[in-house]
Amino acid sequence: MRVSVALFTADLRVHDNPVLQAALRDAERVVPLFVVDTGIRRTGFAVPNRAVFLADSLADLDAALRARGGRLVARVGDVVEETCRVAAETGAAAVHIAGGVSHYAARREDRLRAGLAGDRRELRVHDASLTAVPPGALTPAGKDHFAVFTPYFRRWESFSVRGVLPAPDAVRVPDDVHSAGLPGTESLASGSTSPSLPVGGESEARRKLRSWLSGPLSAYDDQHDDLAADATSRLSPYLHFGCLSPTELLHRARAQDNPGAHAFVRQLAWRDFHHQVLAARPDAADHDYRSQHDRWRRATKEIEAWQDGRTGYPIVDAALRQLRHEGWMPGRARLLAASFLAKTLYVDWRVGARHFLDLLVDGDVANNQLNWQWVAGTGTDTRPNRILNPLVQARRFDPHGEYVRRWLPELRHLDATTVHRVPHLDEATRAGLDYPAPIVNLASAAARFRERRGVG
Ligand SMILES: Cc1cc2nc3c(=O)[nH]c(=O)nc-3n(C[C@H](O)[C@H](O)[C@H](O)COP(=O)(O)OP(=O)(O)OC[C@H]3O[C@@H](n4cnc5c(N)ncnc54)[C@H](O)[C@@H]3O)c2cc1C
Repeated sequence: MRVSVALFTADLRVHDNPVLQAALRDAERVVPLFVVDTGIRRTGFAVPNRAVFLADSLADLDAALRARGGRLVARVGDVVEETCRVAAETGAAAVHIAGGVSHYAARREDRLRAGLAGDRRELRVHDASLTAVPPGALTPAGKDHFAVFTPYFRRWESFSVRGVLPAPDAVRVPDDVHSAGLPGTESLASGSTSPSLPVGGESEARRKLRSWLSGPLSAYDDQHDDLAADATSRLSPYLHFGCLSPTELLHRARAQDNPGAHAFVRQLAWRDFHHQVLAARPDAADHDYRSQHDRWRRATKEIEAWQDGRTGYPIVDAALRQLRHEGWMPGRARLLAASFLAKTLYVDWRVGARHFLDLLVDGDVANNQLNWQWVAGTGTDTRPNRILNPLVQARRFDPHGEYVRRWLPELRHLDATTVHRVPHLDEATRAGLDYPAPIVNLASAAARFRERRGVG
């Protein structure tokens, strides 16, 4: 009887899962395997907020497999050693896995291929799983990836994306495969979590997807930058863990031909864009994609104020406090908080990216590091030296001050006009607010940035 292993990584779902489908097609019995990789844990990527979401997602995946006659087999240890061990125990002929884009994923693939080959087993890598358009499928002439979004998007739009795969009716697991038991949050990470986290798992992802498609999507074009409206999909953690397939999401959004859907589809292209950059340049996770020869400031006090949401700029502070409370923030808030650190304070983008990765439920090497680099001007932005002014951003994207008042209780009694003028208040008026004075003067900061970058 032929056996294969479906090794789950960032694809924790049964719907539209090319890895699971291929493993089922390939054999009569399949081992749906998840390895709690102690290698990842050592590098600190299993942070508490994501550990909670991961534990939910694994429990939900196990339930979906059980409903189909199977179960999730969990192991703890080195992912390559454990996978090879399971393959040997069950006599599996092949292991199926989704193609990843990070340095870690590339090394895992190489080690798995070598480890399995020794026993004449095969590794089958499925590329159209974690992104809608596989990294490397689109390239400009003579280059291995696109470095600019707009030409990438033009090609991406006409790419023939594969069809959506159904969830399997039945999954038959070989008898007697030992499972370590599903990991709980405590076994994945230690430390405190944000008080208001989303529920993980494919079931919740599909509920959120249905509700998003049934109405809010059509208003996305007008509202996605309105901070108080909270009008984005909040699907990012489900995409990060693969509880939701980007291919299915793309097909279902495209089925709605309206400006909201078009704008949303463009955001999904940004996700694929950053993944194809990281796949070609895995070092961009830690190193400048395009160095500007920065000599970043080491401003410990200012970094702490930024992390704590106490910079004295209400819109920036609101964004960072939402991050701590929810492990998530809308894209506009990420942009202005990141620009404040990297450009206004002129602090290394890696410091900010690390803080985001420590808290974001959707914290993702491709999206986080490359968006940070985009904002810092060391990445793919074609205007690397623009600076977002937090006061202008506040008036534009939180015109009634609702977002600021929601996250800064000490300013809740102020009206819409005053709340954004707080940085300009005199000392005596501010004294009654229990809110810090601005830690930096915006005009001097902009001049410092231009001087350090050598731009006029
Ligand atoms: C400094 C910074 C750090 C970021 N870090 C992350 C991260 O760690 N993980 C992450 O998933 N996204 C990250 N983003 C991208 C984006 O802000 C989030 O994906 C988005 O805000 C998530 O909310 P949503 O699901 O409601 O998005 P929506 O606005 O509903 O968009 C739908 C989906 O499109 C994708 N998307 C949207 N904007 C972007 C973008 N700029 N780049 C790539 N994909 C995008 C996401 O998968 C998102 O879920 C970051 C952006 C910035 C500026």
